[in-house]
Parts: sequence; C-alpha cells; structure tokens
Amino acid sequence: DPIISFRHVNKIYSNGTVGLKDINFDIPRGQFLVVVGLSGAGKSTLLRTINRMHEISSGEVLVDNESVSDYKGKALRQLRRKIGMIFQNFNLVKRSTVEKNVLSGLVGYYPTWKCVLGLFSADDRKRAFQALKRVSLTNKLFTRADELSGGQQQRVAIARALMQEPKIILADEPIASLDPRTTKAVMDTLQRLNREDGITVIVNLHSVELAQQYADRIVGLRAGELVYDEDIADVTTAA
Ligand code: ADP
Ligand code: ADP
Repeated sequence: DPIISFRHVNKIYSNGTVGLKDINFDIPRGQFLVVVGLSGAGKSTLLRTINRMHEISSGEVLVDNESVSDYKGKALRQLRRKIGMIFQNFNLVKRSTVEKNVLSGLVGYYPTWKCVLGLFSADDRKRAFQALKRVSLTNKLFTRADELSGGQQQRVAIARALMQEPKIILADEPIASLDPRTTKAVMDTLQRLNREDGITVIVNLHSVELAQQYADRIVGLRAGELVYDEDIADVTTAA
C-alpha cells in the first residue's frame, strides 16, 4: 500500500494562480522521494497539500488510504503528528536553547502555556536528548539556537520534528540557505532517518545533482504539472 496517493489533485489559489494541475501518483512507504523544479513550479504547494497546510481545490490526497480532506479537529492534529515538516528557514526560536526548541515539537501533546513556561517532564527531556542523538547534536543541548551554524540549526529542526515520531518527513528546500558542507550533514541525516527508521522522506530541492545523490526516486514539476518521474534504482540497474 502506498503511504501517500495523489488522485487528480488540482490547486488553484484564491487569486487564480494555478498551484497544481492534475497531479496523479503514489508514494510507497519508506521511499526517499525528491521533488525538483524551478522556483514557482509548485513543489512547496505539493508538499503542503499532504499535511493540509494548503487545501486542494479538487481531487484527493490520501495518507494511509484516507483522504486528508476528511480529517477534522483531533483527527487532523493526529494526521499532522504523523507528518514532520522541515522548512528552508528552520523556524526555530532563535533565542531559545536547542533543548527547548526540540521540546517544542511536543506542542499538541502539551497545552501551549506549558511549552511557553518550559514545564516538561524528565521523560520528555530524555526523549529530546534521544532525538538530538539521532541528528548528532547532543553536545549542543544548552546552546542558543542562533549560535549554531545553519546546518546545525536545520538538524535541530529535524530533531524537533522527530519528537512527534513521524512516519513521514516533508522537507521544503531544507538546504537552500546552506553551504555544501552543512548541506551534506543535513541530507545525510535525512537519509539515515529514511534508511534506519523507515521514515518516508519527501524533499523539495533545486539541485538535480543532489537529488540524484540521495533519492530513490525523482519527480519533476513544471508549472504545477508532474512532467518527470524516474526511479533512481532502475536507472542505476540499467547503467
Ligand atoms: P490558500 O488558498 O492555501 O488558503 P491563499 O490564496 O489564501 O492560500 O493565500 C495565502 C497567503 O499567501 C495570502 O496571504 C497570500 O497573500 C499569500 N500569497 C499570495 N501570493 C503568493 C505567492 N505568489 N507566493 C506566496 N504567497 C503568496
Ligand atoms: P515552488 O515551491 O516550486 O517554488 P510554489 O508551490 O511555492 O512553487 O508556487 C507555485 C505557484 O503558486 C507559483 O506561481 C506561486 O507564485 C503560486 N503561489 C504559491 N503560494 C501562493 C499563495 N499563497 N497564493 C497565491 N499564489 C501562490
């Protein structure tokens, strides 16, 4: 069974801009999928229809065989918990410590005021430590987020996403603002989570070269349409 399916998905923004046009494909569980395309091609829109940060205009997006449009209230919050999201600009609280940023991934489990006051249990702090272990940053637990390099900040964002124990990680241009060395650390981290924990990873990238290096499969978007879909495993076998 695919973990995510797009069935004739269209997205037209309220100003008339076409975001997605008849998108139709399945994403198998455990795949490392890279979405490529020029700026404005619809990559970000595609990613955001999966956790319903954007509503689609027609068609269906299925996660675990259930249409995401049918989720409401508590079920929608649970859907979003299954799906970790990573952004280009990390979205960390800059003046907060790494530990507090990671613990904030528990929002939704805790009332917001508890997060604001930092009232977390010893058990949750243990989990935060484990999450930081998986991104190789336990030495930065009490460092302020804005004292880290961009690549380290992005790994903190990944650790924060891991607090939800997601089955899917969506990464929207996660390395767009990073240099090549820290880019590798971030991409390697995503690869490890995919291979060792079986998390389905979907990454939007500009760089086709980087896509070929990490992806099981590459799909290409142009003007909201899926114009390319290639299984990397097949390519290397054929070569
Ligand atoms: P949705 O249909 O997903 O609710 P909206 O059309 O309501 O999205 O727009 C959401 C926000 O994004 C609005 O504040 C809008 O002004 C802003 N926005 C408009 N055009 C763009 C654009 N080209 N890129 C990014 N954001 C945009
Ligand atoms: P990409 O991630 O590939 O750069 P996007 O998904 O951000 O592409 O954008 C796809 C198209 O939708 C672009 O034409 C963009 O300007 C437009 N768009 C994105 N967000 C909004 C929005 N909130 N409101 C209106 N148009 C938008």
